[in-house]
Amino acid sequence: KLYNEVQDLKGNIRVYCRIRPFLPGQNQNRTAIEYIGENGELDVVNPLKQGKDSHRLFKFNKVFSPAATQEEVFLDTQPLIRSVLDGYNVCIFAYGQTGSGKTYTMTGPNISSKEDWGVNYRALNDLFHLSQSRKNTIAYEVSVQMVEIYNEQVRDLLSFDTSQKRYPLLHKLFLIHPVTSTADVLELMNIGLMNRAVGATALNERSSRSHSVLTVHIRGVDLETDAVLRGSLHLVDLAGSERVDRSEATGDRLREAQHINKSLSALGDVIFALAQKSPHVPYRNSKLTQVLQSSLGGQAKTLMFVQLNPDVESYFETISTLKFAERVS
Ligand code: ADP
Ligand code: MG
Repeated sequence: KLYNEVQDLKGNIRVYCRIRPFLPGQNQNRTAIEYIGENGELDVVNPLKQGKDSHRLFKFNKVFSPAATQEEVFLDTQPLIRSVLDGYNVCIFAYGQTGSGKTYTMTGPNISSKEDWGVNYRALNDLFHLSQSRKNTIAYEVSVQMVEIYNEQVRDLLSFDTSQKRYPLLHKLFLIHPVTSTADVLELMNIGLMNRAVGATALNERSSRSHSVLTVHIRGVDLETDAVLRGSLHLVDLAGSERVDRSEATGDRLREAQHINKSLSALGDVIFALAQKSPHVPYRNSKLTQVLQSSLGGQAKTLMFVQLNPDVESYFETISTLKFAERVS
């Protein structure tokens, strides 16, 4: 079997940590992340403590240092993505505070440069190539959906009617677009990114407070036996996980924060239940977990990118992100 590595995963949940580099103008000496091990170890230093007490160690399936390229990150993601063509459901999501590199990892900073492409484009590109290479044995069809979840409401990002009502529930109601090339996907995703901005007072603000979910559906027909296989891939750029100060947030901002907390903790609860092999998995507690249900649990494979900002000022957010990851891994 081709993808043993992935199938052998314990509980089919894998956690990768990625530390973004310092941005121009940030003080490079003030990092909270001291050691990045070859085998997925991470040492985080509390700036308020001294000596041994100041260190906390974490362990992941993999840690990507700030120097890791988009291509390197993708190489370790590729086997999982390829298993979609064998009929698996896969969910990949990026978790972390705003500014930690979630969108960089999933989409990339600049989609017009191939080198910068994040997991989303590389995944689709790879799926097309691999399906082409199998075309004498299996005929594949690929289609995509893109939705945004904001304040527990799901909105289709690929609808051309920007005045659309927000659908109350299942992603099954949303438009599914057949695609045959990476160019198709790029075009659709551009529409999605543009639609994500519609109605937002400030684009960045809004995108950090909503989850975006790109879903890829695969249908393959075995040309010899006519057997049909289906796989799906959910690629998720989550809302920022930062805590909002309850004493300061009011009105819309408070409501947003409550919805984000609710959906991220519901996601944590679902993955925790799956990791524990619990008989009851609480999918119904948020729109996010409902939308992702088919690719979480059962035979599905899950990969979480834990995104970290290296700056010492982010120490407490970094620890809270790492605690979330620790619970599910
Ligand atoms: P988030 O989506 O978590 O809010 P972004 O992906 O927008 O964070 O990243 C914040 C900033 O850091 C952006 O300017 C982005 O281009 C930059 N950045 C993030 N990760 C990297 C990386 N691995 N290499 C270079 N720049 C990065
Ligand atoms: Mg973002």
